[in-house]
Amino acid sequence: MTEKAKTRTTRQQRAILEELRNSDSHPTADEIYDKVRQQIPRISLGTVYRNLDSMSESGIIQKLELGGGQKRFDGRNDKHYHFRCCSCGRVFDLQIDQKNITDMIKNICDKCEHMVEDHYLLFTGICSDCKKNE
Ligand SMILES: [Zn+2]
Ligand SMILES: [Zn+2]
Repeated sequence: MTEKAKTRTTRQQRAILEELRNSDSHPTADEIYDKVRQQIPRISLGTVYRNLDSMSESGIIQKLELGGGQKRFDGRNDKHYHFRCCSCGRVFDLQIDQKNITDMIKNICDKCEHMVEDHYLLFTGICSDCKKNE
């Protein structure tokens, strides 16, 4: 990779990462593209996709497979849990006491002959905004 290409990649990644970290709505690649384009007008959607993929592979960000529509991305890379609104489709972070989850998993593992290595939990329902507008 030439020096110039490297600089460009870094700048693009930084812009994408910044958008993700500034957002708590777990945006889709298209939404990130719309935002990043305001900073780097010549960036392509393909570049945004590629950067999101490589950053999630290296664990800088998280790719969320939450079902229903497009993949979403999360600027947080620690283990945490999500709530998806069935009405507007937005995804929120949930504040859950990690100990409750650890206990629950331990409980499941004790009764299970498999070796559990990871888990995904998704909560769904109606978000507070949608509840207000009902
Ligand atoms: Zn909603
Ligand atoms: Zn999150």
